[in-house]
Amino acid sequence: MQTAEISMTTSRRTRLEPITKQIAGVIAQNNWQNGIVTVFVPHTTAGVTINENADPDVARDMEWFSDKLIPQSCHFRHSEGNSDAHIKASFFGSSIQVIVRDGKLWLGTWQGIYLCEFDGPRNRRILLAFTE
Ligand code: ZN
Repeated sequence: MQTAEISMTTSRRTRLEPITKQIAGVIAQNNWQNGIVTVFVPHTTAGVTINENADPDVARDMEWFSDKLIPQSCHFRHSEGNSDAHIKASFFGSSIQVIVRDGKLWLGTWQGIYLCEFDGPRNRRILLAFTE
């Protein structure tokens, strides 16, 4: 197994940040050819997902609906006031896996990878593990 790490600063409290290009860059830089890449977000108020990368309105709609479905609320017990972000992070999940074929992410035509920020803006880490 080989590993790598990406750092990024998110831009809003709730934000799906596109990270496909950064991950493809790490794959190319390390000459990872054929295997599986695991993308893991080591945070409790952020996650990772795969969804449409063609129309940016899809990501905006997911941000909007996440906040509508799970609003910030004073009724949560957790004293940090970010329980909504913890819940959203668990709903989206902390990791994804993508097949790497001939050095490229084997995604669908309309798919992209997103870091799902729910308590930004913050500095976030994205951990990658490649297994042949
Ligand atoms: Zn918290």
